[in-house]
Amino acid sequence: MSPIAKAHNVAPLFFHVGGRISPISIRDQMVRTQMLVERLFERLAPVNREVPLKVLVVGAGAAGVTAAMTAAQLGYSTTLVDKESQAFSLQRRCLTRWIDPTVYDWPAAHWDEGDFPWLNVPAPPLPWTHDWAHQLAVSLAIRLANAQALMPWLDVQLGVLARTPQLFWYPMAMPMPGLPFDWPGLPAWRTEFVDPVTQQSRGHECFNIVIIAAGFGRENCIVPQEYRGFAFWETDEFALPDCGLPREPEIVISGGGDGALQDFLRIVFRGARADTLIRRFRIPFALQHMLREAEDFASRGYHWNTGRGPSDHQILHSLEQSHLNVVNAAIERPAIRKALEKHIPDRFPKIKIIHSCKHFGQAYPPNRFLVLLILAYLARFRNRNDVRMNNSRLASVQGVGPHHCHQNPHDCHGEDHEVHVVQAPSCWGPNGAPLTEPLTAQVVIIRHGPRAALPPWLSLPKPRQVLPYLPV
Ligand SMILES: Cc1cc2nc3c(=O)[nH]c(=O)nc-3n(C[C@H](O)[C@H](O)[C@H](O)COP(=O)(O)OP(=O)(O)OC[C@H]3O[C@@H](n4cnc5c(N)ncnc54)[C@H](O)[C@@H]3O)c2cc1C
Repeated sequence: MSPIAKAHNVAPLFFHVGGRISPISIRDQMVRTQMLVERLFERLAPVNREVPLKVLVVGAGAAGVTAAMTAAQLGYSTTLVDKESQAFSLQRRCLTRWIDPTVYDWPAAHWDEGDFPWLNVPAPPLPWTHDWAHQLAVSLAIRLANAQALMPWLDVQLGVLARTPQLFWYPMAMPMPGLPFDWPGLPAWRTEFVDPVTQQSRGHECFNIVIIAAGFGRENCIVPQEYRGFAFWETDEFALPDCGLPREPEIVISGGGDGALQDFLRIVFRGARADTLIRRFRIPFALQHMLREAEDFASRGYHWNTGRGPSDHQILHSLEQSHLNVVNAAIERPAIRKALEKHIPDRFPKIKIIHSCKHFGQAYPPNRFLVLLILAYLARFRNRNDVRMNNSRLASVQGVGPHHCHQNPHDCHGEDHEVHVVQAPSCWGPNGAPLTEPLTAQVVIIRHGPRAALPPWLSLPKPRQVLPYLPV
């Protein structure tokens, strides 16, 4: 089996492309599944000549649609299901996020191409150009509809929940009379299709190959029993002046990963995109080169590491130190300082970013660099050292005054909250003592990443992987 197929293989001809793999963008998910399916069928080609394999792909997001279209383009009878009534449901609902396939590759040379693919490689099934999330979702869905029209063997069933085929697994080589797949040596995964609303069964179907592309699990933006903030892919008002509120709010962002850093930048620069900010601050090539080396160094360590804990801490801490070296060198340059003076708002938002440990977590390089640059500028030239609250962790959020938090972020947006914080000396260890005074905030953003809700056998630890920029 090819290495990429092996890395995603959880049972015979059963693959899972979600799970705890980070960082992973929409573009990465597309590269991952295109390569997985191509390599898989390269090896299966001899079988295919004798047996018409049936493929099931669960989840019509970036990963699932790419997998299904690739399999169908190779001639396989493919069924794609999604519990939502439209494909790309995550991005389709979000009117306020800009998505770019290359900006997070900064400082690699191609970071500002904005196109996938940007080189003349064999066309992937879903080429795209940077855009707002909802608009991109619609244009990708049109590509899927066109593919269906051209390839009738690509069956797309929306509004259908696929029940974990695990329960219906028939061991390899077991003949299954009456079912279409009883060839010895091939698995037949009997899968139940269910109405996602009524939970009524719509019957069972058998497939030889299953690819689970059900996403990365539920986003962790909830404080149990109390408060739910806007999810990352929800439409929000954070990029509007004063977050769309009639008076200047106090803002708390909890989290030190990419979601937190991205929203910090969206609030401070009123939605200006990362590529715009990078251009504005004109970071010289020599400094970018230093960062590229630091990112490469960290990435090589990270991908052979075991997970959260002291060893990840070491990598993230060193990475942040390298970014800070570049930030300090950048801030010495008059042209950069002038650009910062010009673009960092005079009335800087009343914002705090709280996160455990002394370093930020997993984040894309431009976001990490830009946030550190802004924080360094604020500390040095505006005497503001109160924005970053490192070594702290959110403990609870409580609504104050007439409103009640019903886990509805629209109700809570702009209302008073008390945010209780505890010390968090390390990124992996237990909480420390509570801070004596709670913070007050009218906007609380929780960016604690996705929490996969998967059966244990699907969430088996898999090696961390480095994906190529483009499918190879
Ligand atoms: C906090 C956060 C921030 C991110 N920021 C960015 C960013 O700035 N830029 C970027 O490019 N990427 C970003 N990503 C990554 C991006 O969201 C994902 O890479 C991409 O959406 C994953 O695509 P996917 O197809 O794997 O999953 P999804 O897009 O989640 O699609 C999974 C689909 O599976 C369906 N499904 C689930 N279970 C079933 C079932 N049992 N039966 C049928 N259907 C099912 C769901 O309805 C859904 O449509 C971010 C992710 C997170 C969590």
